Amino acid sequence: MQVKCAHPQCMCAVAEGKEYCGEWCERHAREELPPCRCGHAVCEQIYKRDVPRSTASPFA
Ligand SMILES: [Zn+2]
Ligand SMILES: [Zn+2]
Repeated sequence: MQVKCAHPQCMCAVAEGKEYCGEWCERHAREELPPCRCGHAVCEQIYKRDVPRSTASPFA
């Protein structure tokens, strides 16, 4: 069974027994940051429209 990442804005699935999909979510789970920036493809697709071009990975 898979569980969603405990970060409120994160849509990633996590392995059983884990709370977060990665270090980013673990650090930022208590903050109410609008977009999840864990770096996983799922969240990048959802939030890419809000990601500044300068810092995030480009679409190409
Ligand atoms: Zn995420
Ligand atoms: Zn996450």
